[in-house]
Amino acid sequence: MAGQLLEGKTVALKIKEQIKKEAAELKTKFGIQPKLVSVQLGENSASEIYIKSQEKTARDLGIDYELKKLDASVTQDEFIKAIELLNKDKSAHGIIVQMPLPQHIDAKLISRYISPLKDIEAVHPQNMGEIVFGKAKILPCTAAACMELLNSVPSIELYGKEAVIVGHSEIVGKPLALLLLDKFVTTTVCHIATGQRGTLPEFVKKAEILIVAVGKAGLVKGDWVKPGAIVIDVGINRVEGKIVGDVEFDKALEKAAYITPVPGGVGPLTVTILMRNVLEAFKQQQ
Ligand code: NAD
Repeated sequence: MAGQLLEGKTVALKIKEQIKKEAAELKTKFGIQPKLVSVQLGENSASEIYIKSQEKTARDLGIDYELKKLDASVTQDEFIKAIELLNKDKSAHGIIVQMPLPQHIDAKLISRYISPLKDIEAVHPQNMGEIVFGKAKILPCTAAACMELLNSVPSIELYGKEAVIVGHSEIVGKPLALLLLDKFVTTTVCHIATGQRGTLPEFVKKAEILIVAVGKAGLVKGDWVKPGAIVIDVGINRVEGKIVGDVEFDKALEKAAYITPVPGGVGPLTVTILMRNVLEAFKQQQ
């Protein structure tokens, strides 16, 4: 029997309703509208799509949105000064720096300068550290989106399950491993070296929960998927003008109990979690 689709849109709708209600309540209570400020350095067609989607989602939910465009030629010091000004600006409650940044800017260094109270992507080391303690109020959006998708599976018991994450990035694989461990999920993280060793299929085949975040179309073959597994495909790849994930979807659908489509899976939830983080940041600042 074919698996069921785990659609981010459906889960996002419920969370959006809560955000809309809370944003309105906060505005009434404090007399200010929560605001997200997005900082873009230079022009980039990939980030334009995300910026448009962020702005539309924010406005639909009653969150103010401002795009601060800086010239691609600004120096790292000038960029840090711009971030520090936003940290002091009481009307800016959440800050997001659009990626990718030009080569002369060190993204990891910049993340240290965003106030942890306004860091709605949880890229500041302090916010990352809170995840280790299981105390984070603001979570990295995509990792949190994966957890929301898992929690949306009817009657799922995460305790004691075996999960495999493919991809160990700082925004997805690493924080997600910590979030799963916090739920007592036995978690294995695979990465490029696993792929090079040729042992990736062995790990994937054991996964009751499989999360793939690599950025290589069709890397995970459908017949590697354990029957009855929950598959979350984070990957976004453009192949012959179409957007596809990292998992061979049609074949994986035959084996999985639940699988996210690409597009329409993790993506719509990620931007929703970003908005939830803006409200969380706003509350922490009041
Ligand atoms: P990244 O690009 O920083 O890192 C890629 C990871 O894949 C690394 O851990 C690397 O070791 C691993 N890897 C590379 N080749 C491999 C192989 N052959 N076998 C096993 N592992 C291998 O990762 P990222 O920034 O987390 O992005 C991953 C994908 O997720 C991209 O396609 C990105 O566009 C997508 N993404 C989607 C969303 C969303 O909201 N849907 C959000 C963030 C990222």
